Order: sequence, then structure tokens, then C-alpha cells
Amino acid sequence: VRRGLVLLAMAAGIAAAWLATATPSPRDRDAPASSFSAARAMKDVRAIAVRPHPSGSAELERVRGYIAGRLQAMGLAAEIQNAEGVLTAGKRKPGVVIAGRVHNVIGILPGRDRTAPSVLVMSHYDTMPNTPGAGDNTAGTASSLEIARALQAERPLARDVIFLHTDGEEPGLLGAQAFFAEHPLARNVGIVVNMEARGDSGRAAMFETSTDAGALVRLLGGVAPQPTANSLMAELYRRMPNDTDLSVALDQGKTGLNFAFVGDQLAYHTSISTPDDLDPGSLQHMGAQVLPLVRALANGADLPPKAQDLIYSDLLGRVLVAYPVWAGWLLCAVAASLVATVLVLVRRRALAHWSGIARGALALLLMTLGAVLCLHLCGRLLGGENATRTYALVARYPLLLAGAAAIALAALIGVADALAHGARRRELVIAAALLGAACSIGGFDAAGAIVALLVIGLVFACVGRPVSLWGFWSGTLGAGLVLALLLQALLPFGSFLVQWPLLLAALVAVLLLITRIDLGSARGAVLLFAMAAIGFAQISSWGGFFFVLMGAPLPALLALFVPLAALVLAPGLYALCVDGAARRLSPSLLATGAVLLLLVGWTRVAPHPLAQLFYFADPAAQRFERISATKDLDDWSRAALSLDGGEPAVTSMKLLGSGTVWTAKAAPSDVPPPRITIEHRAAADGHTDLLLRVQPGAAGRELKLLMQPTEALTELTLNGRKLDTLEQAAAFSLNRTGVIYTAPAAEGIVLTFRAPTHGKLDVTALEISDGWPDGVQRPSQRPSSLLTWGLGDTTVAQSMLQHDW
Ligand SMILES: [Zn+2]
Repeated sequence: VRRGLVLLAMAAGIAAAWLATATPSPRDRDAPASSFSAARAMKDVRAIAVRPHPSGSAELERVRGYIAGRLQAMGLAAEIQNAEGVLTAGKRKPGVVIAGRVHNVIGILPGRDRTAPSVLVMSHYDTMPNTPGAGDNTAGTASSLEIARALQAERPLARDVIFLHTDGEEPGLLGAQAFFAEHPLARNVGIVVNMEARGDSGRAAMFETSTDAGALVRLLGGVAPQPTANSLMAELYRRMPNDTDLSVALDQGKTGLNFAFVGDQLAYHTSISTPDDLDPGSLQHMGAQVLPLVRALANGADLPPKAQDLIYSDLLGRVLVAYPVWAGWLLCAVAASLVATVLVLVRRRALAHWSGIARGALALLLMTLGAVLCLHLCGRLLGGENATRTYALVARYPLLLAGAAAIALAALIGVADALAHGARRRELVIAAALLGAACSIGGFDAAGAIVALLVIGLVFACVGRPVSLWGFWSGTLGAGLVLALLLQALLPFGSFLVQWPLLLAALVAVLLLITRIDLGSARGAVLLFAMAAIGFAQISSWGGFFFVLMGAPLPALLALFVPLAALVLAPGLYALCVDGAARRLSPSLLATGAVLLLLVGWTRVAPHPLAQLFYFADPAAQRFERISATKDLDDWSRAALSLDGGEPAVTSMKLLGSGTVWTAKAAPSDVPPPRITIEHRAAADGHTDLLLRVQPGAAGRELKLLMQPTEALTELTLNGRKLDTLEQAAAFSLNRTGVIYTAPAAEGIVLTFRAPTHGKLDVTALEISDGWPDGVQRPSQRPSSLLTWGLGDTTVAQSMLQHDW
């Protein structure tokens, strides 16, 4: 085997994976009318993402007018749906009612057959309070407008295309709720395509589908250039606590696909997300996927029927390979016969002992768990499980990925080297014991201890006598087959991850054995190089895809890609190990990874720590405070807290959902707090009817209510709407329960309940308004390196009322 060729193949693979995740170059304003131009869409991004425009804000009204104006200027029928949305779909929290007034902006492109099921292009146009939201979700809104323009130029289409721009997605999918619950157009929607963002760069991945979306996914693969999608992501997303507007559509039994880009996540929900920060290439990729899809749907004689879900993944971001689950079993059978052929030939030609093959198989597990142990320790040392720190880690994402990848490869090569020489048993055991112990720094860590013990057991099982190259490689192929079969049985939509590298590696192994090509010959080198480069490229692109989503809180995730890489890198790397050339490779990779992660840890609070400073007023209790709901108090927040001479102190304030906060006395202001009134009336059947009204005092953007009844409250209504699901009735009999209402009308909100004859109810109402109140000294300009989030830069006015009946 030619020395060093495998390293070159790995470099080529990483380069190819990099290209597979690169965004296309944005098309300029003169691009043909039928195509999607990011330059044209960026014009809308710049007009919309000027400043934060959360649901209920004055700025959102301006944005609403802009979107409606753009639709009308294009000649679409534009309409504003003015409604109330109540969150009932998705993976919501029990015990909290999330509702609000919303204004959806709807544009209709009529088709030739107005009665045919329509295509709905959905994107939300509200933002979180502290971000201009260029990515989330002005990118989606601007893409929607550019797609509407392109399709308008070629109408009439076969069927209606509806462009729905929802309000109130961020507080709780409220606009989508209102549309699907009430709007007459919703009934005839056949397919929903949603566009989202969780950052400001990266490719737009198709990450979620309805169930039985096989035909739709096939259509996407047929029309989308450079798709980024895989069925494991869609399967995992169903189990994740996240929601987008599409959750509402799927809850209604609609068929649909969801697209989002997730790069540069530091911009997600922060002030960084300005038009200048947004990668126009991400916009171009979004449009390049969604426009041809919507065009095909709108012009098709029929919409894709519900059809069994497929196993699919993009191949290096170029084509989408999709096949049914039974074909996955077929591929397993092919892989099994290839691996069996390898084992038979390896044994017949005495290229390895059975014991060597068995140790090669166990080595696959050992290198995986070794990588898990190293990366788990790194994750603990970096403190990624703390949400604020995760955010800071995201700022160092490229370093984090490079460091974690170096450590994962170090584990792979270290184990291969130990097997090749049948030595280093003691070093590996000591290393595992030390790493396991280190996991428990700052508190016993059961996971770290268990993995360390497993690693030690595996070291004893497979490191001892040298294993031949074919013993190692055929062993990894055997273990890979077991893994592939397990995945196909337990998680079929993730089976491609093991199957594809396994098929590639087993095919090359059979080819080499049957043709008796010498591994050291030129032809052998070409084969090994191609396998390593192609396989490693695909595995790296998958690894990067999943790491960007979950790597910051869970770097050990990358260890799961170690066995896949081992399948295709085995012969090249092992040959390096056997002739001693790799002796220093593993330690130097480990050191490189450690240095990179040290850099990540070193800079973890820079350059963008988070501040959450706001003004709090409870005039009835004469309580006026400046509050910082961030754990680590930065200099600016400390100075801002003490503006009125108060000394910052830590108190608990569970109401805001943040546990402990820093507070300091503030000068009084005349902020009008929300007004609470409660009436009770004895009902004929011995119960009492309660009526609770909360009116905003200062036209605030949001009302939060906390209710602590002594008795069970049932038959809840909100503004006359019965919220009578069992879950909600049960929740309201708990002693802590709440309502979050966005964009309340001036007359406020009315809740009614049925209660037993006697009881007591404590109500706390918070009204959140943007900015600082008049007459209160404002903090100095916040440094640009300090991001704000949550309640930052708001005024929170509180009222409390106790009512006996
Ligand atoms: Zn969003």
C-alpha cells in the first residue's frame, strides 16, 4: 500500500464534503424572470429586516403593509386575515395556554382549475423581539415573494398557489393556527411547503416531511438541483421538541415539506441577524429548491398522492437517492453476500485468523466508544449543556467541528495502531481510566464512568496479538454488517448511514480479492484511494450536517461517524499503522484537537455574551426595579442595574421562567400596569362561574398570566372560545398555570371558568412593552459585542389580585 495516499484521500474527502455544503452563488437582478434571484430577494430582505418586528409590535404593521403592497404590485390578490390564534398543535407544554391576535398576509395566484387542491407556500413574517430577523424568517418571506414573482410571470398555472405569510409564529404558531382553523382557503390546501431559518447561512435543508410523503420526496429529488436532505433528519425531527408552522398543517393531516438553513446559529434570534449578515447564497439555495418544487406541484395534473415514506439521502449535495424500506433490506442482503464473500476468501487464502477477524470487529466498537469517551469529556469541560454556553460555543463552530473531528480520527487511528502492533494495551487502559475519571471532575458522571469501563473491557478483548490488515478490514466489514442489519430493523430511515459506506467498502474488498490485485500495486492504490476519498467525503458531509444541529451541546455525536469512516479508511490507515508511519499520527491529531477545543473553551464567553436587562414596575406594591435575568453579570449590565444607586442582588423570580435574576432598586415611573378584574356568579347547579378580565395598561405587546387557584377550575373559555380539551381542563386544576397572550386588544382578554362553591384565586399579570418607560434613566449604549435576548430592553409591568368567593 502506498504510504500517505490515504491521508491525501481524506483531505480530498473533506474538500468534497466542504463543497457539498457550500451554498450556490446568488443570481443577480438580471437573471431570467422564470428563475429565482437572491439579488432580487435581498431587496425585500433589506426592506423588511430593518429592526425587530415581533408579533404585536408597531414595526410589524409596517412590514405587513410592505408585504401586502409587494403582492398587490405583482398583481396577486392580497388579503389580511385578522384573527385570534390559539396553540393546540405541535409539541406544546401542558398547563400553558398560548394565544394571541394575528394578522396573516395572504397572496393568491389563481390557477386554471380553481377547485383543484392548492399548493400553499408558507413562511412566518414575525420575528423574536431582539432581532431584525434577516434569517429567521425574512429569508423565508422574501423567498416567498420572489417565488410568487417568478410564478406570476408564467401564469396561469394548473392550480391555485397560495402564499401565506403568518404572524405570531415565534410566540406559538398562532398565525398558522388561525389560518388552518378558520380560513376558508385552508380546506382546499393539498400540499404545504414551509420555509424557515435557524441562522444566517448554510444550505436550505429539507428537514421535515409529513408521514407518507414518499411521492413528494421523489418529486423533490426529480426537480431540485443540489438537494440537501436525508430521511434520518426527518425521522429525528419528529422526536425533537421543536416546532414550526408546518406542525399545525401536519396536525390537520396535510401533506408537506419543510426547508430551513441552520448555519451561523449565533445569528438565530439575536441582533446579529441583519441583512448584511445573511448569506445571499442561502437565499439562493432556498429558492433554487423551493421554486422548481412549487412549479412542478402547481403544474402537475395531480398532486403527489400519499405514498409510503422512503429512505433517502443526498449524495454529496448533488442528487437525492431515495428508495423504499424493502429496498433497504435488499441492500442489506447484497452487503451480507459481499461481506460473506470477503470472509470466505480471506479465510481460504489464510489472510487472517478467525480470532484476528473477531478482534477487528470488536475494534470497530472500541474506536467508537473511545471517541465517545474523549468527546464526552470535551463536552463536559466545555460546559455545552448550559444553554448560554451552548450559544457561545456556536460562535466557535468551525473550530469546534475541526477539534472534535481531529479527536474522533485520533481515536480511530489510535485503535488501529494498537491492533496493528498488538501492543499498547497498558497505555490504552490507563488513558481510558484517566479520561473516565476526568469526566467526574465537578461531579460524578455515570455516563463517562460506564463508557470508560466498556472501553477498558474492549481493550482487553481485542488488543494483544497483532492483527493482519485483512483481519482488521474484514472484521470491521463484519461488524459493519451487524450494525447495518440492526439499523435497518430498528431505525430503517437511518440505515443508509451504515449501508452506503459498507456497500462501497465491501465491494472494493471483493474486487481486490477476486482479481487478486495487490494492495501495493498502482491499480490497488487507485481503488483504495477512490474508496477512501468518496466514502470519507460522504461520511464527512453527513457528520457536518448533524454536528451543526447538535454538536455544541453534544460533541460526542461525532463519534457515531467513526465506525463509518473506519469501513472505508481501514486498509489505507492500517497499512500506515503496520509499517509504523502512523505511530505519531494519533497523538498529534489528539493534541491538535485538544488545542482547537482549548481555543473554543478559552474564548467561550467572547465575543458575544448575552445580556437580558429590563425595567420592572409593580406600582401597587411600590416596587420598581432594574432586572438582569442573565446568570453571569457583565460590566455593562452591572453598571446599568446600578443607575439609580441600587446595589445588584440575586433574587428568585420564577414567574419570568428564569429562576434567579439580578435586581436593583430603580427610580419609580408611572408605567400603567395591566388591570385585573374578577367577577363571580353562583350558578344554578351549585357551582360558581368565574370571569377574569385582564386589560393592558400601556398597549403592551404581550400579557402573561399566572393563576394559582385553590380549587380545580374547569370549562375554560378564552375570549368566548371554549378551550375544552381534556388536557387543558386538567392543566387548569393544577395550582400553577398560565396564559401567554400576544398582541392583546385594548379591551383586553376575558377568561371564564367553572369552579366549586367556595375557593380562592391568585392572579398575577405581567404586561411586556418594548423599550424603557418615559422618565427613567436609560442605560448607556450597549456594547455591540453584547447581545440581548428574551426580555432584554423591555418594560415589564406587574399587577396582582387575590379573589375569594
Ligand atoms: Zn422562525
